[in-house]
Amino acid sequence: MEIYNTLNRKKEIFTPINKNEVKMYCCGPTVHDFAHIGNFRARLFFDVLKRVFIFLGYDVKQVINITDVDDKTIKNSKKANMKLRDYTEMYTKFYMEDGNKLNITPAMVYPKATEHIAEMQKIIIGLLEKGYAYESEDGIYYDVSKFSDYGKLSGIELSGEVSRIKQDEYDKETASDFALWKKWDKEDGEVYWTGDLPKGRPGWHIECSAMSMKYLGETIDIHSGAVDLIFPHNENEIAQSEAYTGKRFVNYWAHLEHLLVNGQKMSKSLKNFYTIRDLEKFGFDPMSFRLMVIDHNYRTKLDFNLDGLKKYEKTLDGIEIDLATFKTLETLMHGKEDVSPILNALEKFRKGLEDDLNTHIALEAFFEVINVMNEKYSNGKLSKVFYTTALEAIEKMNSVLGILKDYEIPKKVIELAEKRKSLRKENAWDLADGVRKDILEEGFKIIDLKNSEYIILRNRKYGR
Ligand SMILES: [Zn+2]
Repeated sequence: MEIYNTLNRKKEIFTPINKNEVKMYCCGPTVHDFAHIGNFRARLFFDVLKRVFIFLGYDVKQVINITDVDDKTIKNSKKANMKLRDYTEMYTKFYMEDGNKLNITPAMVYPKATEHIAEMQKIIIGLLEKGYAYESEDGIYYDVSKFSDYGKLSGIELSGEVSRIKQDEYDKETASDFALWKKWDKEDGEVYWTGDLPKGRPGWHIECSAMSMKYLGETIDIHSGAVDLIFPHNENEIAQSEAYTGKRFVNYWAHLEHLLVNGQKMSKSLKNFYTIRDLEKFGFDPMSFRLMVIDHNYRTKLDFNLDGLKKYEKTLDGIEIDLATFKTLETLMHGKEDVSPILNALEKFRKGLEDDLNTHIALEAFFEVINVMNEKYSNGKLSKVFYTTALEAIEKMNSVLGILKDYEIPKKVIELAEKRKSLRKENAWDLADGVRKDILEEGFKIIDLKNSEYIILRNRKYGR
């Protein structure tokens, strides 16, 4: 597989440290509010990247951290008049729930910053001992001028006087000595730790170095995040980790591009700020968003808008109807049939993904299988061997795309559907139609097939 490595600014062949294993760290959410759809574009990227590695035969160890202490979480929890822990746990729960709605598979571990203070302190002490860090009146800082490779990821240059910055997020144009440990001040309230360092709390960047090393080792295969993390966050992670261990921290850095809304950066003040819950309020199935994200390659900007999402919802609904229809096929031709269209699509699918995760091409290949099945189905000429090969291919492809998700149909809906079937047999069309509406009320729809057979599917507001 080839992947674009931000460190070397080119596509490179992916070679893991251990054969058949991928050690992958993803910069996860800061749980200060509901994650927005831009955050979930990132989470979907992490999910698909992991699924691709699994598809290609690797075991994947995936770590996604939860930032549950930083400037923003402290500020917002105070505003909400809640304890930091209660506040961040609430938003972590929402983050996980929204991830499930997008069919995201769980990471190996979701470590929390507040549960790794000792690991962070150990690195900070090591950096002090090696002369990469110094103590000032308000904290312990990393001295960027001491690390000769500083800037190798982002291309930022050190020039002249370097200032010192306590905030977690800062100017993306200038290198600064950044806080590893912030000494307590009254703004922090009850949030502080002691241990081996003065009373205080960690800076934001140190947690990713500590947790990546703890769960994956000193050198890992791949680290990913959104492009806005390249500087200063990821640059600082490299500086901390490599100065501490004397080893390379990460072999491949994979960054995904932004999500825009109607061509603009998402922001609450522009009223173009959406969460997954907002999409649901508008009546969307969150899975339509998954399909939309997958149709756009991760290194291109995704310009989101609600009309666009409606199209994806319609497409998703169409795929589900087609597949459910295929699965009701009972009589299939015997004998041989050329299955090369399916095998070619699978090959295109794999090649697309191996080319820097081209999910757009992979999705195209998926539709080639659906289309050829549709064609044969409507011609009434589908052999058993073709049918089985195609369904297997669809399953394999969906193991990466994750766009089709099983769901349960309530007993009540099944009973209503049977009632409708008998009413139709008795030619009681009006009554049958009434039952159809009852089924819609329950969030499901009936698709009628030949011989008074039918399928039940979830009803989508913007579906086919
Ligand atoms: Zn991080």
